[in-house]
Amino acid sequence: MQFIGAPLQDCGEEKADLAFIEIEGLTKKYSEDVYALRSFSLAVEKGEWLAVMGPSGSGKSTLLNILGCLDSPTEGRVVVEGENLGRLGRADLARFRAEKVGFIFQQFHLVPYLTALENVMLAQYFHSLADEQEAAEALRHVGLGERLQHLPSQLSGGEQQRVCVARALINQPNLVLADEPTGNLDEVNEAIVMGLFTELHRAGHTIVMVTHDPEIGRMAERRVELHHGRLADLSAFPAREEELVDDLLKAVWHAQEDTGKPVLALDAVPEFRANRATFLLMARDELVCLEDGTLALATRGEPRAREIIRRHRLAERLFFDTFGLEADLLEANACRIEHTLSAEVTEKLCRFLKHPQTCPHGSPIPRGVCCPR
Ligand code: ADP
Repeated sequence: MQFIGAPLQDCGEEKADLAFIEIEGLTKKYSEDVYALRSFSLAVEKGEWLAVMGPSGSGKSTLLNILGCLDSPTEGRVVVEGENLGRLGRADLARFRAEKVGFIFQQFHLVPYLTALENVMLAQYFHSLADEQEAAEALRHVGLGERLQHLPSQLSGGEQQRVCVARALINQPNLVLADEPTGNLDEVNEAIVMGLFTELHRAGHTIVMVTHDPEIGRMAERRVELHHGRLADLSAFPAREEELVDDLLKAVWHAQEDTGKPVLALDAVPEFRANRATFLLMARDELVCLEDGTLALATRGEPRAREIIRRHRLAERLFFDTFGLEADLLEANACRIEHTLSAEVTEKLCRFLKHPQTCPHGSPIPRGVCCPR
């Protein structure tokens, strides 16, 4: 994380040297002893996806509101794309919000008596000119082509949030501010909305996303945490753990074996719920396929799952046949070494064990390149 050392230049002439968002000494005080934010500094680079995490009341929404010019700080400075927000007058603040910022809120904030299409067109109107074709296209892009004329009350929570995503993006804002964007969504819609965020990130939008959910926070490139209005950096934690990915691929493989089906309902994989964001990242990497509330192994995931299952079951065979380990101890011991066996050692182990067909529990061991056909 990048804290700002030297004071910022006063106006936009140093734009080239500034990060996309520069926050310096930001404080928001509501009364003598109520501070929402306490003098912190932070820089966010262009195109970065930052998750702001922390418990309720830690100042997350206040920070987002200040970045979106919906609130102003008591002290400190916020510069976005070279514009010092504290120096903008009312008209310029409105222009800044309309042109540069897209908001996505937990509570949606859609106008209840306007259709999905009209809600998106309203954002266009505030920016410049409403364009019905463009608004309809934005809704089609988020999968709502069939819902253009529906009122918010006729849409599910997930669909309303997708209207918000379309509305936030219609004016191509450089900065997307999201406050608990999946807070009111079920798992399937959460996956769809997070998929849209992944697209936004790929397209180069800078995203500042507030969430208290660590699983959603994992989706972001970088995470910071607020505690009582002060900032703690979480970027030291690895964003991805390869062992966790291996374990989740194994879980999908097991569920496919148990059900005999390659495409699974989400609840057929008990691990899905606690690892939703990791599964989304795995979908992004073509390890799994997450579509319409189903889960399957994808092109890159199938061979990787096959390999980890093979290593695990060969390790169980080794412990059982060679060391006489009791059946109930096999699983834990195999888990311990399965991540460390190289491909070469696995093939040697397979040859040594004479290419066994099943593990000691009777489950099939996937064939390897060394196995006779
Ligand atoms: P979070 O989004 O992390 O839940 P908030 O930014 O909403 O936190 O609030 C941070 C702190 O500021 C809380 O203690 C909250 O009670 C206080 N606060 C927020 N808005 C106001 C307000 N308008 N008046 C007084 N206190 C407020």
